[in-house]
Amino acid sequence: MMQEDAFAMVTQSHESRLTISPAHIAALRGMLGPKGFSDDAQRIAAKCQDWRGRYQGHTGLLALPGDVEGVSRLVAYCASHQIAILPQGGNTGLVGGSTPQGEVLVSLERMNRVRGIDPLNATLSVDAGVILQTVQETAAAADALFPLSLGSQGSATIGGLISTNAGGVAVLRYGMMRDLVLGLEVVLPDGRVLNTMRGLRKDNTGLDLKQLFIGAEGTLGVITGAVLKLFPRPGAISTAFLALDRIADAPALLRLCQHRSGGSVTAFEIMPHRGLELVLQHIPQSRAPLETASPWYVLVEISTLNEELADTLLAAMLESAFENGLIRDGVVAHNQQQSAALWGLRENLPEAERAYGKAVKHDVSVPISSVADFIRQADQIVREHFSEAEIIAFGHVGDGNIHYNVSAAPDQQTVLWQRAEAITESVYDCALALGGSISAEHGIGILKKDDLANRYPLEAEMMGIIRRALDPGRIMNPRMMVD
Ligand SMILES: Cc1cc2nc3c(=O)[nH]c(=O)nc-3n(C[C@H](O)[C@H](O)[C@H](O)COP(=O)(O)OP(=O)(O)OC[C@H]3O[C@@H](n4cnc5c(N)ncnc54)[C@H](O)[C@@H]3O)c2cc1C
Repeated sequence: MMQEDAFAMVTQSHESRLTISPAHIAALRGMLGPKGFSDDAQRIAAKCQDWRGRYQGHTGLLALPGDVEGVSRLVAYCASHQIAILPQGGNTGLVGGSTPQGEVLVSLERMNRVRGIDPLNATLSVDAGVILQTVQETAAAADALFPLSLGSQGSATIGGLISTNAGGVAVLRYGMMRDLVLGLEVVLPDGRVLNTMRGLRKDNTGLDLKQLFIGAEGTLGVITGAVLKLFPRPGAISTAFLALDRIADAPALLRLCQHRSGGSVTAFEIMPHRGLELVLQHIPQSRAPLETASPWYVLVEISTLNEELADTLLAAMLESAFENGLIRDGVVAHNQQQSAALWGLRENLPEAERAYGKAVKHDVSVPISSVADFIRQADQIVREHFSEAEIIAFGHVGDGNIHYNVSAAPDQQTVLWQRAEAITESVYDCALALGGSISAEHGIGILKKDDLANRYPLEAEMMGIIRRALDPGRIMNPRMMVD
């Protein structure tokens, strides 16, 4: 079969799955019961628009199942009638993966129970619709820590975070979501329930099947529950905001901080001076933390047993960094309020960027040792495409993840967007040439589907094989990730 014919077949079959007949909608509503779906136009509209306002969708049915049995019945019906499904959590995903285009939209919002906590096993079991902040608060109430932390934590759900294998600011110490999941409950594409809700740190009973669903973006099943790992809560957290002359010094500074603090660094974030300027301009109540400007800043956080130890370690770290010429200035937070103000400068950067204007955004990663090379090479090539580019490269450099955003003054926006595709291709070329990735933590969704197919052909083919084996009718998120 010609490649185009095969593609036409795939496209055609997607479309037929995306059209739900009124009879099927009526049958599904009857099955879900009055609480199990919604007709409310406003509620549906909010779930059909993505967080960045880039994707606008629609659905014939918003399903709101209340338990795993409800999800299982719904999926089994859809499988036997070839109806497409799109699971949704907090709708904060950034790659278009949670916007329906005709699929039955399965919201997990009613599945929001904390199922149980086992302090001695250091595990927490939850429904997949529980919001991250609730998980953090539940852990804290039991004097434990659930370390995943990111800007969308007030809305993002455990199911969505697992499905996108989310990262955030504490990855260098605790890992990504994949590292924090011990067990899963998943409704498979035929409606059967896979239950691996075992809170075990050691479990070598063959293949670790739960790993398939972590980062699968809803293409292999609906996650309905999870067992999460908990950690001891640090007694003290100290934050410092440091000024650097050269981004090239950041990896050596990270290494020094790790060594001097006995591996206690929990966050290591960079931002350029232009980023700080935007925050000071657009975010009310934000204040410059240092008297003089520097090209780059690092926000470093260490977590330790008690404040005395934190102060001692931080002082030793900074003294050594000054002595080695890695930093030129710095400020240490002396209380929680000051720490929140320093974190605000970093966390409000995306908001400040948004207020300034649209940006061509890239979520890439490279080995930590190549961060400076990446930024230098990408800056050079982006400016060859567009000399007026304003580049804001910031993010979780402690784990090699850079949010490399290219913006422009309001009167240059049209030119920027005319060159956006060429800019993105070049940024991805630079990341890959340095052994990096075109998607560090946001996933593939719709946004990067073609890039995955074109730049990782064998991996995309293998993902397709797994997908066809588990979901031969291709009802789960059919437009997403790989064909
Ligand atoms: C302000 C902001 C800051 C962010 N910061 C970070 C960050 O620092 N690090 C980072 O990694 N990400 C970040 N993100 C993006 C991040 O991916 C999401 O916030 C989160 O992981 C998605 O969770 P959600 O519940 O909103 O999922 P949704 O957006 O609803 O869904 C995301 C994907 O998962 C699928 N899905 C959702 N629930 C399920 C389920 N139960 N079973 C199967 N599939 C499911 C969906 O179909 C979709 O493909 C940020 C987003 C925002 C808006």
